[in-house]
Amino acid sequence: MSKKETKYIFVTGGVTSSLGKGIVSASLGLLLKSRGFKVTIQKLDPYINIDPGTLNPYEHGECYVTDDGAETDLDLGHYERFLDAPTSQNNNVTTGKIYQTVIEKERKGDFLGKTVQVIPHITNEIKRRIKMLSKKDYDIIITEIGGTVGDIESLPYIESVRQLQWELGKTNSMVIHLTLLPYLASSGELKTKPSQHSVRQLMESGVQADVLVCRTEYTIPKEQKAKLAQFCNVSLGNVIECIDMETIYEVPLYLQKQNFDEVVLKELNLQPGKESNLKEWKTFLKKYKNPKRSVEIALVGKYVSLQDSYKSIAEAFIHAGADMETEVRIKWVYSGDIEVEGAEKLLQNVDGILIAPGFGDRGIEGKIQAAKYARENKIPLFGICLGMQIMTIEFARNVLNLAKANSMEFDTSTPDPVIALMEEQKNVVDKGGTMRLGAWKCVLKQGSKLAEIYGAKTISERHRHRYEFNSDYKKDFEDHGLMPTGHNPETGLVETLELKDHPFYIGVQYHPEYKSTVATPHPLFKAFIAAATKGK
Ligand code: GLN
Repeated sequence: MSKKETKYIFVTGGVTSSLGKGIVSASLGLLLKSRGFKVTIQKLDPYINIDPGTLNPYEHGECYVTDDGAETDLDLGHYERFLDAPTSQNNNVTTGKIYQTVIEKERKGDFLGKTVQVIPHITNEIKRRIKMLSKKDYDIIITEIGGTVGDIESLPYIESVRQLQWELGKTNSMVIHLTLLPYLASSGELKTKPSQHSVRQLMESGVQADVLVCRTEYTIPKEQKAKLAQFCNVSLGNVIECIDMETIYEVPLYLQKQNFDEVVLKELNLQPGKESNLKEWKTFLKKYKNPKRSVEIALVGKYVSLQDSYKSIAEAFIHAGADMETEVRIKWVYSGDIEVEGAEKLLQNVDGILIAPGFGDRGIEGKIQAAKYARENKIPLFGICLGMQIMTIEFARNVLNLAKANSMEFDTSTPDPVIALMEEQKNVVDKGGTMRLGAWKCVLKQGSKLAEIYGAKTISERHRHRYEFNSDYKKDFEDHGLMPTGHNPETGLVETLELKDHPFYIGVQYHPEYKSTVATPHPLFKAFIAAATKGK
């Protein structure tokens, strides 16, 4: 298919937020990809932040990082996990980015004296960002529009969809509207009115939904479907039910049963080709739902009351666990509670401990206690990013006898900064987009546990941090058994640590969780689960 014929699918949401547009988009992407189409998924976020990198996880869940170093919305994680294909900077656009580009152009005088306005300048920039992805020869681009139809901040996006549809022609684009059918227990009915209103609201902006995907707790009766079709101006077959499922990974199959992908391809005037082959996906689900054993892993972090903050880690456990036919039960442990109640009380029955990534000093001492507890009691421990830094501090204090060792992030005057600010970070003032971000190479030491786990000498993993293991202390650590076994080949930065004579005590400065997908579970998560199972 030539570049010109790239087809565009827009996914909007109505009635409420959090309906799962990301999962529906990812599911559709998977169904289309498995029919042989080259697909990518993009998220447009109507907020004014340039990216979610500066957002508190409580505010917006996890910040997901791409290979090319973009700090993005967590939905991009779903896209990658479902499609098993990397996303990039261009897959996540925010209002902040749009305005930044337009204002920079204005300052350069690019608008030649014109008044710069939402229409056409902002909408042109939105359209440019949507179309930019077609340069990569995708057959189909799915663009998810964040927020809910009717929000003031979504308006320029909906207007851009209207303009693009007009420019592209009817058969080159389509709109999927995700909506909610609330259930009224007192009358035992699913109600269609809010959906009718949101479709109408979309129409007021000149956009007609072609397909409705209806979130519902119960099966939608035929009459309600017919009513939705009639009042929302869509064919009956284009009303798709999306009932609450046990796991998000069932959604593609449920949608496929209703010919969702065929309906979409017909709207785009594309030949459906061969039926999706989701054999491996089904095998994954089967294994996930019928585990042979189970392990309990304590996830020690500070945002544990909002589990979306650690989305990719939780999903990585699902992928690796299914692969190993092991149910991974996560015990969410707030590190601040360890400071009060002690590590033993909260961690004594778990099979493994994961110390989570994070920023700031709240709960740090609790994490250090968790690391000590795992080290001394030979409980498998996996430290990710801040987690590896915590392992370093704990070892320095309790094994190297550097009682005041710390990270410069938490104590700038520590006599033993075993974790220090990276050289290139020293003059950084802006917080946004300035960390060490994205994919970096790491060379693993021959004969190390990590080299064995990866089955490779050189790996590439994604980063998001400002601080690093201080190489001045390397020899001391090595001599006492906490071995730096992975290094960045260009800078020499220590990327991994592993403890001798311990079943599994591994810390990584990078985020392996970002690269785990259904099709490719991450070897480190698998090895960690194996160690936890063995130690049971
Ligand atoms: N706060 C630490 C740093 O910036 C760790 C970051 C993380 O865990 N992602 O280096």
